Amino acid sequence: MKIAVKSGDKNLLPEWQSEFNKYLPDLKVYWWDDPELPKEEIDFAFVWEPPAGFLASLTNLKLIFSSGAGVDHIVSDDSWPQHVPLIRMFTQEAAQRMSEQVLMCSLMAIRLMPQAIEQQRNKIWDTYDIPNTALENTVGIMGLGNLGSACALSLQKAGFNVIGWARSQKNLAQIKSYAGDNELAEFLAQCQILTCLLPETPSTQHIINKTLLQQLPVGASIINVGRGSHLHVEDLKKALNSGQIRYAFLDVFKEEPLPPDSWLWTHPQVIITPHIAADASRQARIEYVSQKIIRFLAREPLKNVYNLKEGY
Ligand code: NAP
Repeated sequence: MKIAVKSGDKNLLPEWQSEFNKYLPDLKVYWWDDPELPKEEIDFAFVWEPPAGFLASLTNLKLIFSSGAGVDHIVSDDSWPQHVPLIRMFTQEAAQRMSEQVLMCSLMAIRLMPQAIEQQRNKIWDTYDIPNTALENTVGIMGLGNLGSACALSLQKAGFNVIGWARSQKNLAQIKSYAGDNELAEFLAQCQILTCLLPETPSTQHIINKTLLQQLPVGASIINVGRGSHLHVEDLKKALNSGQIRYAFLDVFKEEPLPPDSWLWTHPQVIITPHIAADASRQARIEYVSQKIIRFLAREPLKNVYNLKEGY
């Protein structure tokens, strides 16, 4: 069996090989641009941002693995082989990391941390009241999937009231769930903090726009850890400047790295992290992929398979 890998640093190929062989002793690992890559003999591909046409050139592929949870970097290539199951990444490690990021941002929002950061930058000692605690704040999560539901539970443990919105109704203990466009307004009206953990699809593009931001309570904060394309950045600027939105915690951007001339870098109500919310370690991802391959070889059903019709 053979797997082609395009993820991270090429120099780590020996580590990929030995790590995969812990679970699959017969798997041979190739780097994707190896001139000797036997394209017609590759069974599996494990990729992040593969160049257009690469996956189509592997004519006997059986499974494609995305190196991250999103698959937009694969399906944006019109030639990707749609008959091959495409598996989304999900590890407990990523869920834990994402939960920590969202919890941190939520606590920063209610404890007005961007104000403290701004004051520190200007050497200003100016005491201020923290208006309330997690117990008085509702965090709404758009996208109650693998990552969203993990975040919901950790926010709840920290004392926040948590609600969620997805395409379908969810049944999570003490987390009221809303579904579909008809229930979006009712959901938004309660979110003092709105977290986006949606996938990138045609129907989620620019979903955080002027209309949505106006439906949040005045002074709400947003956390975008989904994709940069979810946020209409100019609408956010107006909402921040008018006070409709208090803070924005942004981990993902339409253009990454975020260009140096972006206004987001210097706005005092914006906190930026460089798309680091939930990377899982190489070991965790290799274990996940290996378990999937073992299930595939045993002809057992696979979870987290990309749904062509739904687009995620
Ligand atoms: P997932 O398990 O597929 O969950 C996606 C959720 O979004 C599901 O609850 C789904 O609803 C909901 N959804 C999809 N389209 C929708 C729509 N049009 N309207 C309402 N709800 C919709 O995905 P995941 O593993 O949790 O990952 C979510 C996203 O997080 C990824 O796609 C990626 O963009 C982002 N991400 C970011 C980082 C980072 O470091 N910043 C890391 C990993 C992932 P149903 O449950 O009803 O299907």
